[in-house]
Amino acid sequence: MGPEISNTLKRKGINGMRRLVTDMFSLDVAIKSEAIGDYVYTYPLRQAYRRLPLNFEELKRHIIQSIKARTNASLYVHIPFCKQICRFCNLYTTPVPTMDDSWGRHYVERILREAHWMRDSGFFNNLKWTTLYLGGGSPNALPVAELEFLISTLRDLLDITDDVEIGIELAPELCTSEQLTLLRKLGFSRIAIHENRAG
Ligand code: SF4
Repeated sequence: MGPEISNTLKRKGINGMRRLVTDMFSLDVAIKSEAIGDYVYTYPLRQAYRRLPLNFEELKRHIIQSIKARTNASLYVHIPFCKQICRFCNLYTTPVPTMDDSWGRHYVERILREAHWMRDSGFFNNLKWTTLYLGGGSPNALPVAELEFLISTLRDLLDITDDVEIGIELAPELCTSEQLTLLRKLGFSRIAIHENRAG
């Protein structure tokens, strides 16, 4: 990719870049590009991404194989909901649904369904959990009942013991004293404050 295009992408910001990448380039070119080479936001770096195998069984084998080499593991659960979406954000986020109160339960049920499936498929065999972290998004956008359901079910399902550190990313404007009390009761011992600047 030439420097003009790279500069254009920088000028247009992340949303402009998303559009340009979608419009102009294939996934492989976008992955290899240096368009945001000086902007390190997530790890592993985008340039380390690889296409996933299209065959699902092959993908499963790859993942199990890579996990087999480990004994300790951290579990990350992504809660993508935010009160407002910030313009600069390049994470996978979506606004808190307003049409229906049951969105939190539906999302948690799907997370748990996936956790069940992964456990039953052998992904977590012989792993010892060291940390559990809820990130987003704004995980505390989830109603407290759903947070409780999620954590207590994950603990039982994946044998997450009391000595495992559990942490959460909090959007302060969504915190309530009921929520903080519940988080303490559920064993959360680490919080990361995540301020929402949607403007
Ligand atoms: S609050 Fe955080 S995660 Fe949500 S849209 Fe803004 S920057 Fe992204």
